[in-house]
Amino acid sequence: MKSSRRTFLITSLGAASALALSRQALADAPKVTESDPTAQALGYKEDATKVDKAKYAKYKAGEQCNNCSFYQGKATDAYGPCPMFGGKQVNAKGWCSAYNKKA
Ligand code: SF4
Repeated sequence: MKSSRRTFLITSLGAASALALSRQALADAPKVTESDPTAQALGYKEDATKVDKAKYAKYKAGEQCNNCSFYQGKATDAYGPCPMFGGKQVNAKGWCSAYNKKA
C-alpha cells in the first residue's frame, strides 16, 4: 500500500471514529428535566400535550421536538440532543417555546 493511500485511510478512519464517538457522546448526553432552569425559561415539557397553552398560545397540537428544526435525534429516537439545551437530550414528544417547525 502506498504511503499516501495508507495516510488517507488512517485519516478517514480517524475522522469516522471521531464522528462515531461524538454521536455516541451526544446519545449519552443527560436528559433535560422540566425543573432545569433553561427548561423553565423555555416552558419545556417532556409531553407536548402538557404545555401550558394559556402561557404559550403559539403552541399548536402536533408540534413536538421530533418535528422541530432544532431536534438532532432521528425521527424514531425517543430522545435526541437539542442545541437550546447545550446538547442535552429532549424527549421526542416534548416541546418548548423555541419550537421551529422542520421544513
Ligand atoms: Fe424541542 Fe425544538 Fe424546543 Fe429543542 S427547540 S426542546 S427540539 S421544541
